Amino acid sequence: ILSVRNVSKTYQSGSKPLTVLDDINFDIQPGERLAIVGPSGSGKTTLLGLCAGLDSASAGSVVLHGKAMEQLNEDQRASVRNQSVGFIFQNFQLLPTLTALENVMVPLELKKRKDARVKAMELLKQVGLADRATHYPTQLSGGEQQRVSIARAFANEPAILFADEPTGNLDTETGELIEQLIFDLNREKGTTLVLVTHDVELAQKTDRIISIKGGKIQEDRYV
Ligand code: ATP
Repeated sequence: ILSVRNVSKTYQSGSKPLTVLDDINFDIQPGERLAIVGPSGSGKTTLLGLCAGLDSASAGSVVLHGKAMEQLNEDQRASVRNQSVGFIFQNFQLLPTLTALENVMVPLELKKRKDARVKAMELLKQVGLADRATHYPTQLSGGEQQRVSIARAFANEPAILFADEPTGNLDTETGELIEQLIFDLNREKGTTLVLVTHDVELAQKTDRIISIKGGKIQEDRYV
């Protein structure tokens, strides 16, 4: 479902270019659960963004769901994302002017689903937030915002879900609830999971762990 071939990423900001990823290679099979681990600043978030088609590589190829990302323009990449990708961001990235319910409706409306409101409400119920539907992001706690962002990521029934520190900054109980929701999605719908995490226990619950350091894959092992 995802193939990463000789991928490098160099940022051009500042006085000299900064190579964050250097010749990364791996493949992920449908339904697989992968954790990407590594020290702070090792390029995990950058790699996740490239895999999800949010950003483009400086060199190499990312083939997501049969589409070579580097051959597409931004509109075409957005279309692949809307069709097959769910993304849970480290800082949630909810739209501040929309309520919880409206945030979850966004991907459904992009797919022109007539039942967007009903379906979004069902998803909010699933994450235990039916009673917060009309709240705006600033009126929600961090854990609640995270759950809204999960409901939104689940909305278009993605073939592959990318999550950046999905349980970071949450109390143990909320973290466990979120972990459970993500793994249930994999079990029930066969969704491929790619998780960036510092949480060793969470990584151990996946099928495979890729460690990156200094822009290179240091270890790629099955749990
Ligand atoms: P953390 O675990 O702390 O979230 P990470 O492994 O996810 O870190 P990245 O966010 O991918 O790391 O960042 C890797 C490196 O690239 C960092 O040194 C960061 O400063 C740099 N970097 C990230 N985004 C940009 C950008 N847009 N422009 C320039 N440098 C960037």
